[in-house]
Amino acid sequence: MPSIAVTGSASGIGAAIAARLARDGAEVIGIDLRDATVIADLSTPEGRLAAIDGVRQACAGRLDALVACAGLGPHVTDHAAIASVNYFGAQELLVGLRRDLAAAETASAVVISSNSTTMPGAESPLVEACLEGDETIVRQMAATLTGSQVYAGAKLALTQWLRRTAPTAEWAGAGIRLNAVAAGPVRTPLLEGGLSHAIYGPAIRNFPVPTGGYGDADDIAAVVAFLLSGETRYVCGSVWFIDGGTDALVRGAKY
Ligand code: NAD
Repeated sequence: MPSIAVTGSASGIGAAIAARLARDGAEVIGIDLRDATVIADLSTPEGRLAAIDGVRQACAGRLDALVACAGLGPHVTDHAAIASVNYFGAQELLVGLRRDLAAAETASAVVISSNSTTMPGAESPLVEACLEGDETIVRQMAATLTGSQVYAGAKLALTQWLRRTAPTAEWAGAGIRLNAVAAGPVRTPLLEGGLSHAIYGPAIRNFPVPTGGYGDADDIAAVVAFLLSGETRYVCGSVWFIDGGTDALVRGAKY
């Protein structure tokens, strides 16, 4: 039975991924602030270390897969927390659990990013600051930016980190495939929070989704399950847009 760790497993997309993987026969190690195997706060360095320790104990040092899904939406008023959870809460867990993933015969990790990474405004100095790894500076910078700039910037930094890291000897060379899912609007409590925000609500409603409507958490879970499976053993360092065609509509032929 494969051991698979899922952050953000208590709600929304993470809960759907955890349920799907458990149905497929995995032993799921959920990580969240509540209702999880490992209770940890991914917004702090200590919380992330506790999460890494908890997962290591639960999987006995051999982890088949990791899904970094926990996140805060752009409507959250603590902008520093958005950056801490969405970038450091994913990147530090991946790095901290790399040796446990390498201990499995083949391993795979997926980060849940967003199609906001390719929208105008995602590029900001926050991206480079995240990649440089100084969380104190990132948090100070985040406090001066809008929630959507911090959200998109942290997700873009995470995706850029993944693109740089996936093909290296420590990851692909050690049998660990890293991939990202860039989701569009998906019906979850996070999306509800955005929709009820005075500024983000109308912006999300005006967001064109060519297939119509919003996605369900199970739409994302199905793709994540596929990316973790042996059927995608040649897929590495890729970013899958699961957004009803929005990215294709907005960026056209550019990819
Ligand atoms: P959600 O709010 O339903 O779930 C997020 C989970 O993350 C919650 O269980 C929450 O407790 C956990 N979490 C938040 N802060 C944490 C912390 N400090 N420590 C530990 N856990 C913490 O949201 P969701 O929509 O399921 O979002 C999941 C991921 O998908 C996020 O990374 C989000 O950015 C991304 N995403 C969502 C959408 C969408 O429209 N819902 C679109 C694109 C990307």
